[in-house]
Parts: sequence; structure tokens; C-alpha cells
Amino acid sequence: MRFCSSCGAPVRIQRPPGDDRDRHVCTVCGTVHYHNPKLVVGALCTWEDRILLCRRAIDPRAGFWTVPAGYLEFGETAEEGAVREAWEEARARIEIEGLLAVYSVPRIGQVQLLYRARLLAPEVAPGPESLEVRLLPWSEIPWDELAFTTVRWLLERALALRDHPGPLVTVFNPVPSPPRTEA
Ligand code: ZN
Repeated sequence: MRFCSSCGAPVRIQRPPGDDRDRHVCTVCGTVHYHNPKLVVGALCTWEDRILLCRRAIDPRAGFWTVPAGYLEFGETAEEGAVREAWEEARARIEIEGLLAVYSVPRIGQVQLLYRARLLAPEVAPGPESLEVRLLPWSEIPWDELAFTTVRWLLERALALRDHPGPLVTVFNPVPSPPRTEA
């Protein structure tokens, strides 16, 4: 960040009083601009004993396989975000079963919330960010062509827990989020 998003003046890196690390601080209005990790939400989606994988059309890791996942948007719950990503990347209609894993990736400033989900129908198709999407049996998972380490971890965990009944972590959303209005 070079300029303040509140007033447009240059920012400089300094340590605010009482803080324990350096921040971007506006030289004019004094706003401290915190840089916090982002939430990534996604789902390991199954149809019977097949796994939904998408081959990425975009960098990073274009051409490699992943599960539908992406940044959570303001105004949606993590589960809604995972459902949305499955539709955007694979035209898949899914129902969330439970939280399968939480991975922190501090190097790139991400916390990933990854769910297990059930496809409501086997019809899938690539969205704009996918070259192709497939429903693969466990024996055909392209372990050497996965896009990210967390996808490997997720698949390994899902495989180890595939006969585990019911939700793996209780998902609790006390306040239903309002429907999103498209801009
Ligand atoms: Zn400012």
C-alpha cells in the first residue's frame, strides 16, 4: 500500500504507539491500515464415491487440479461462499455436510475453511476459471498434478475419513445472513 484509502495521502510504515509491529500509517489523517489474512472457502464435493476436481484455467498453478475454492465475500457466510465457489468454478449444485479442515497458510496470508459437500446432481461443467471439471474415483485422483499443498492435505483427510458418518465439525451460524443483493 502506498496511498491512504481514506484520504489519498501517502502512507509510511511505522509502529503505532502501543502496537507490537509496524503498520501502514497515513501521513496526513493518521489512519492505521491493518493488513490481515484473508479467508478462503471451498469444498470437497462428492457424488457417490467420486470427487469433484477442477483443472485451473488461471494462475497461480494454471493447468493443475484443485477443489472449488476462493475468497469469501462480504455479506456471506463461509458455507454460502463455498456453495457459490462450487457453482462459479464447476457449475455444481452442492449441499454442505460439514467442516473437513481448517488450514492456516501464513506465508500467503490465508486461512482456508474447507468443507465436505454432497453434489445434488452429477451435472457439472467448467466455469470461467476452470479448463475442465471431472468427477473422479479415488483411484484416478491426479496426486502429482494437484495445484496446492492444501488440496493434497484435504484429499488425504477426506480419503481417511470417507466412511465417517455425518458432519465432522459442527457448523454453527447463530444469525442467518440476509440474501445478497447484486450490485
Ligand atoms: Zn489518510
